[in-house]
Amino acid sequence: MNDEQLLRYSRQIMLPQIDVAGQENIRASTVLIIGLGGLGSPVAMYLAAAGVGRLLLVDLDRVELSNLQRQIIHGSDRLGEFKVESAARTLAALNPTISVETFPQPLDEALGNALFQRADICVDCTDHFAIRFLLNRLAVRHRKPLVSGAAIRMEGQLTVFDSRKPDSPCYRCLYEESGQDDLRCSTNGVLAPVVGVIGSLQATESLKLAAGLESAYVGRLLIWDALHGDFRQLRIRKDLACPICSG
Ligand SMILES: [Zn+2]
Repeated sequence: MNDEQLLRYSRQIMLPQIDVAGQENIRASTVLIIGLGGLGSPVAMYLAAAGVGRLLLVDLDRVELSNLQRQIIHGSDRLGEFKVESAARTLAALNPTISVETFPQPLDEALGNALFQRADICVDCTDHFAIRFLLNRLAVRHRKPLVSGAAIRMEGQLTVFDSRKPDSPCYRCLYEESGQDDLRCSTNGVLAPVVGVIGSLQATESLKLAAGLESAYVGRLLIWDALHGDFRQLRIRKDLACPICSG
């Protein structure tokens, strides 16, 4: 790292758990972010600012007026732009020393396989169950950590699936693949900072993993009720009959 980089990242290099070696790990990391909406906004901004070397951004959608209340990576001047292109512009302004690749297309098996081969970590910032199950299969197949977040109304959830660890559950251990209706902000509403908090927690866990630290949320599900100010945690266990991660 040169002097400018040492200065830019000095406040996290100062942390004994990160240090120069952790910052080098962060710089050498590639993080795949699926969805550049309410969760993806803080995830991408914090990871870029913190110096993750390469970000791979996937989102098919374009910026709409109703996104701007919570998707803070996009501004009013970005209406109609692909979200990944708008995000890349914001990230380039935050930190021009990292590289950002954009994929304004639907995530399918082929694209997913290609991107998971390159990524060290995947952050799930979608609100589609079908995509969540696809990401889970890819994460187990490629043995990459999957940082999972969800937020709707005034509630949020966070957990990390890490198939490199034999005891880690996967998304399919928790949820049946059939009979899930998408819980979308477009039909249920969401309080803006709720996605910000959950996205920030996803960024925190991703950055720890990128630095070479453990995630605290493997096998633990955080549930936040923002209305009552209640944070709860549940232990979640691997399903030994899971068709994706067991047997
Ligand atoms: Zn499983």
